[in-house]
Amino acid sequence: MALTGIEIYKHLPKTNCKDCGFPTCLAFAMKVAVKQVGLDKCPHITPEASAALESASRPPIQLVTIGVGENEIKIGNETQLYRHEEKFHRPTAIAVRISDRAEDAAIAEQAKAIGTMVLERVGLRFKVNLIAVDNESGDAARFEKAVKLVAENSGMACVLMSAKADHLRRAAAAVSGQRPLLYITDPAQAETAARVAKDEKCPLAVRADGVEALAEVTGKIQAAGVEEIVLDPGTRTVKATVEALTMIRRLALKNFRPLGYPALAVTASLDPTMQAAEASIYVAKYAGIVITDAREPWQLLPIFTTRQDIYTDPQKPVAVEPKLYSVGAVGPDSPLLVTTNFSLSYYSVEGEVEASRVPAYILAVDTEGTSVLTAWASDKFNADTITKAMKKADVDSKIPHKTLVLPGFVAVLSAGVEDESGWKVQIGPKEASGIPTYLKKQQWKA
Ligand code: SF4
Repeated sequence: MALTGIEIYKHLPKTNCKDCGFPTCLAFAMKVAVKQVGLDKCPHITPEASAALESASRPPIQLVTIGVGENEIKIGNETQLYRHEEKFHRPTAIAVRISDRAEDAAIAEQAKAIGTMVLERVGLRFKVNLIAVDNESGDAARFEKAVKLVAENSGMACVLMSAKADHLRRAAAAVSGQRPLLYITDPAQAETAARVAKDEKCPLAVRADGVEALAEVTGKIQAAGVEEIVLDPGTRTVKATVEALTMIRRLALKNFRPLGYPALAVTASLDPTMQAAEASIYVAKYAGIVITDAREPWQLLPIFTTRQDIYTDPQKPVAVEPKLYSVGAVGPDSPLLVTTNFSLSYYSVEGEVEASRVPAYILAVDTEGTSVLTAWASDKFNADTITKAMKKADVDSKIPHKTLVLPGFVAVLSAGVEDESGWKVQIGPKEASGIPTYLKKQQWKA
C-alpha cells in the first residue's frame, strides 16, 4: 500500500534545511507520497530510514514476469481489494493446459490451435496468454519433448507443471531463455525447485496444502534467491479456492509479506461448461493466473468477457471515438444509423450491420461513453447532440437522401431531430439484433 505523506515524514530528519528544494520536510514528504519526487533528493536521510521507507512502499503484491519479448506476461502489483477504489491493473493470465501424455502430433496441433486463436469482442481482440504443459506422464524425457513441441508450435510463453524438480530443470533447459513459469506441484519439492528456478532465472509457482502452509514456504523460496513467486493454495473446489484467493489478497494488502505474491487457480471440473464457469469465477476473485482445460472458443469467450469486465476502470466508460463510421462499401443510398459512442452499443450495431451485409453509415454520438437509454435519460442523447454530431461529421455532403435511423427506444426524439436537423427520421428496431432484418427489408427507405 502506498505510504502517506505523514508516514514518510516520520522517517525524515525534520530539520527543514531546504536542501531538497522544498521549504519543509513535510512539504517534501507530501511530494514523495504522490511520487512527484524521489527520496534521494534528501541528502540527509539515514540509510536505515531509507531502507525502511523503501521496504514499506514496495507494492504489497510482487510483480511476476513470465515469458520474454512480445510473449511477456506480467501479473501482480495489484493494490486494491475493490475495483471501485482503483482499477485492477494486471489482467488474469489465462493458461490452457496440455498434457504430456498426448501424442506428439496432438500436442503440436493443440499448441498451434491455441497459439493462433484470436477472439474478438466489442472491437477488442483476445488471445490465450500461456500454455501450461502438464507432466502427467511422470516421465522426464516425455515432459521435455512436450514442452519443446508446445513452445515451437504455439510461439507462446509456457507454464511447466511437474511434481519433480529435476523434471522442471530438464524442461526449463529445453526452452532456455524463454523464461517459463516453473510450477512445482509437489509441496515437498518446493525448495529443490527453488534452486532450479534460481539457476534457470525463472519465476516459480509453488503449491502447498492451504494458505498457512504457503505462508511458511515462501520465505524458504525467497531465501534460496527466488523473488518472483506465484502461490497455489492447493484447493480444487470452487468454494475453497475462492476463499483461499480472497484470503491471500486480503493479507497481502495488509502487507503480510509471506503472501505478497500473485496467486494461481486451477479449474478442476471435467464438465466443459463448468470449466468455463469455474475459470470466470477465479478471474473475478483475484487469480493472477487461471490454468484450465477450457480451450474451445465458446468456453474461452465468457472467460475473456469476465476478465474484460473486471479489469476495465469502472470510473471510465468504455467508449469509441465519436464520429461517422462506414461499414462495407457505402454509397449515396446507404442508410445512416445513429447510436451512442458507448463501446458496447456501437459494436453491437456494427456487428449486426456487418451481419446484414447491407453497407451502412453509423454515427456514434458523443454521450461520454454511455448507452442509448442512459444517455437519453441524462439528456446527453437528444435532438441537439444528435444534430451537432451530424454537422460535425458533415453528413449533409456525404448522404444525399437525408434520412437517418434512430434506435427504437428513443423514438420520442424523432420530431425534435427532424426539426433541428431538417432530416427525415425513421424509427429503427429497439434492439441491435433487429437491424439485419430491418436493413434487408429496406424498411428504412419507406
Ligand atoms: S533536505 Fe531532507 S532534511 Fe532537509 S528539508 Fe528536505 S527533507 Fe528535510
